[in-house]
Amino acid sequence: MNEKLMNLSLDKKINKSKEIILEAIERFGEEKTAVAWTSGKDSTALLNLVREAFNSQVPIPVIFVDTGKHFDEVYKFKDSLGKIWNLNIINVKNTAVFNATDKGVVRTSKLSQEMREELRQIGWNKEEFRIALDREPCCHLMKTVAMKKAMIDNSLDALMVGIRWDEQKTRSNETYYSPRTNPKHTRVHPILHFRWKDVWEYLKLNNVPHNPLYDEGFTSIGCFTCTSPNPEGKVERAGRAQDKEQTMRRLRALGYF
Ligand code: SF4
Repeated sequence: MNEKLMNLSLDKKINKSKEIILEAIERFGEEKTAVAWTSGKDSTALLNLVREAFNSQVPIPVIFVDTGKHFDEVYKFKDSLGKIWNLNIINVKNTAVFNATDKGVVRTSKLSQEMREELRQIGWNKEEFRIALDREPCCHLMKTVAMKKAMIDNSLDALMVGIRWDEQKTRSNETYYSPRTNPKHTRVHPILHFRWKDVWEYLKLNNVPHNPLYDEGFTSIGCFTCTSPNPEGKVERAGRAQDKEQTMRRLRALGYF
């Protein structure tokens, strides 16, 4: 975390973000770079910064990971803004897990060798796991492994992600360019220095649409099974059930974004 950068004026923060976006696309190329979008405020702000840097266009693919457990508002917002902004959205889903799920339970024997190996890597040796209730195997296969497959299938070398230093303790040591393995690529984090309030100020000042769930008391949006409204709103990700520090640390080490 760099306090100096976090204390810049909003204009300077925006310029810094655009510099990183332009530099990353120059470095990795439009064909090899994508941006992750969840429909949440941070990744929507990041998308708009990309648009501002490229004459209202997003010249790179936008990856949306579908866990099958998103709120209806997430799918609707993604589809409607996707049309308005003419986004090239790649919807990715771990269909192997969906196919192996029965009444919310995934039998590991029904998964491919590759998926079982992914579970083994996170130390999950049980014969089954429950969607949403067993968070590490569920988040790992539904989010991280789905994204990993999208990176490989689309031959990507870089992925822009809208994470911020002040969002979560495990993210406070992130850097603008973060090399990753399996698959080998670079995570690019252009809004790391934005504070929570900066994101909202930026969206409002630029009339950028936001997911309507924020108007219903949510402060951070994840799957409907694992996210609650956060009416007190003091701690940004307090409504996110998977945000236990240890779980986040383990998931992050495996590529959670
Ligand atoms: S947030 Fe919940 S439902 Fe969504 S992938 Fe993670 S554990 Fe599964």
